Amino acid sequence: MSTTTIALGDRFARDLPELAVPWKAEAVPDPRLLVLDEALAADLGLDPAWLRTDAGVRLLVGTGVPEGAAPVAQAYAGHQFGGFSPRLGDGRALLLGELTDSRGEVRDLHLKGSGRTPFARGGDGLAAVGPMLREYVVSRAMHGLGIPTTRSLAVVATGRTVHRETPLPGAVLARVASSHLRVGTFQYARGTGNADLLRRLADHAIARHHPAAADYRALFDAVVAAQASLVARWMLVGFVHGVMNTDNMTISGETIDYGPCAFMDAYDPATVYSSIDHGGRYAYGNQPIVAMWNLARLAEALLPLFDEVEEKAIERAMESLERFKPLYDAAWAAGMRAKLGLPAGLDETVAVALAEELLTLLRDGRADYTSFFRDLATAARGAADPARSHLLDLAAFEQWRERWYATGPDADAMDRVNPVYVPRNHLVEEALAAAVVDDDLTPVERLVDAVSTPYDERPGLDRYAAPAPPDFGAYRTFCGT
Ligand code: AMP
Ligand code: MG
Ligand code: MG
Repeated sequence: MSTTTIALGDRFARDLPELAVPWKAEAVPDPRLLVLDEALAADLGLDPAWLRTDAGVRLLVGTGVPEGAAPVAQAYAGHQFGGFSPRLGDGRALLLGELTDSRGEVRDLHLKGSGRTPFARGGDGLAAVGPMLREYVVSRAMHGLGIPTTRSLAVVATGRTVHRETPLPGAVLARVASSHLRVGTFQYARGTGNADLLRRLADHAIARHHPAAADYRALFDAVVAAQASLVARWMLVGFVHGVMNTDNMTISGETIDYGPCAFMDAYDPATVYSSIDHGGRYAYGNQPIVAMWNLARLAEALLPLFDEVEEKAIERAMESLERFKPLYDAAWAAGMRAKLGLPAGLDETVAVALAEELLTLLRDGRADYTSFFRDLATAARGAADPARSHLLDLAAFEQWRERWYATGPDADAMDRVNPVYVPRNHLVEEALAAAVVDDDLTPVERLVDAVSTPYDERPGLDRYAAPAPPDFGAYRTFCGT
């Protein structure tokens, strides 16, 4: 394999030139490959051994792209914490082009940290090793959990220092996604006032993601359904995205932008990890309502495509938006039934009541969300009950457990949906510190190994299944680094 044999498509740039600024990656003084998802590479038709060569690494940082490739910075707008920015765009990212995977699906090859672009505003266009490895680890975990996500192909250290509060080693992340179309992409297109652009964007999205959509309403319905399902999946595994701005919500239904995200330790709907989310707008328990708010912004952008008469268009949009809650509730209830191992025949009201009552007990006991469900499966096997140790109100739990146990829960089925290994915050921090401070990637690799096969308990991995030690303290995450 060589650079010249790689065919990078430019369909996005050709269909939507108004949203694509031709641009080049910045020179990289001393590129060094840190991590590579070999299975993903192979699936994209990229030889992992070649990606490790000088030419391969140059592709992964964007300084050595195939002849004819046309990297672009993508334009988008977005509501950030509720406030609208008409022009955000890829300030430090580039779409290198499109590849076709083993199933024949088109996939974006995209870089983050590849230098300033015309959208950089005050930013330096760069990214640091720690946050890019964080995205690598967490997106590998999400993929392992079976949750739709952008993927991380590789992280390459650049040898350049990035100046944040302290000097940090720089990196470029190579990311793969079914596209980088966001709610904010539609907001930007609508904001240009170019009706033809908005239509072409919607056509591009239909062709790429929702080919069964017969019209623009159906496109919107498909995005509503994809996001209802995605956010339900987040909630079921205790994932807190942390920065659900409309520029960080995809049209495909893939999770995108792993900035201040985290997996919840103690169960509490009010959980916020992001250091900048002072009002708790993106708290764990708010995620479904925020998703709906973002979808309302998408509907606003799409209105001219729904009907020429604005009132009719709004009526249609409202009808579609109203589908979010029942879809979300159904996805969540089905997921909770699975987590609790409940039999298919059990009445839905009974199942939902069991789930909701349990969550109240978990919150009051500040129970470790991930371990609790694994330990509950042990209880379903009739063994000594480790689930009790997570809770405070034991009498209430005993009562709950008897009702639950009487339904005949299936412990093996529970173990297939309740992960043993998630990228726990203390493990992520420990692994990143080893990589950044000691130049030791072994902890990152071990953690990725555990979380990329999250449902199979394996010997020797106990510490990856255990809650944070008490002295780990309150966790804070940061974005934009
Ligand atoms: P995010 O918070 O990662 O979703 O980014 C929000 C916006 O800020 C996007 O337009 C990014 O491209 C831009 N941005 C974030 N960090 C940088 C940076 N270091 N340099 C330039 N632009 C950035
Ligand atoms: Mg973003
Ligand atoms: Mg980000």
